[in-house]
Amino acid sequence: MTPDFDKAGGLLSVILQDWNTGQVLMNGFMNEEAYRKTIDENVVWFYSRSKARLWKKGESSGHIQTVKKMALDCDQDALLIQVVPHGPTCHLGTQSCFGDDHFNVQSLEKIVKNKVENPEEGSYTKYLMDEGLDKILKKCGEEMTEIVIAAKNDDKKEVIDETSDLLYHLLVMLRQQNVSLKEVEKNLEERHGETLTYKVREDIEEW
Ligand code: AMP
Ligand code: ZN
Ligand code: ZN
Ligand code: ZN
Repeated sequence: MTPDFDKAGGLLSVILQDWNTGQVLMNGFMNEEAYRKTIDENVVWFYSRSKARLWKKGESSGHIQTVKKMALDCDQDALLIQVVPHGPTCHLGTQSCFGDDHFNVQSLEKIVKNKVENPEEGSYTKYLMDEGLDKILKKCGEEMTEIVIAAKNDDKKEVIDETSDLLYHLLVMLRQQNVSLKEVEKNLEERHGETLTYKVREDIEEW
């Protein structure tokens, strides 16, 4: 499928979304040439309406956007691009142009990664990684047991708390095993066999 530039009035509306976290990052516009350069170079190019010229996102800031996956909308006049951002996407310094209130399990995965790679004094994540796999697995088991107790007690707040504990320890386990949440998601997606995307980049970016 190709974009319908006529319908889009020459400029395709483009939404950038973080491939790893799902955070919506920015909205921009592409003419046909920007679209072609994006496909050719695998990094995002826009058409700047204010400057009336092609613009490679990150040309001055260095914060380029590597393309992972693209999907056109139902009538081919808007494009969703999942990207790996190399630095904050907004020129004001935030990850997203729409503010940084987005938090999900993949945000936590990022935090775990940072805590492992740049350990701070007294970091619990660092402690778990140093202790090793057996310790991490034991904690996962304990947290699961705590969920069982909370659920049996019909204690919703406790179920949420203990599930948070388990998810965190699972993420530490995945990092220890060198498995990304994205790989798990991909597996889930394959099981359900549904995808609206027409292009998937298979090369796994650092996560
Ligand atoms: P960059 O493409 O990141 O090197 O930024 C170059 C210039 O493009 C900035 O100084 C802004 O004028 C503009 N710009 C970059 N990113 C954005 C954005 N997310 N939203 C609006 N304007 C932007
Ligand atoms: Zn549309
Ligand atoms: Zn912005
Ligand atoms: Zn717990």
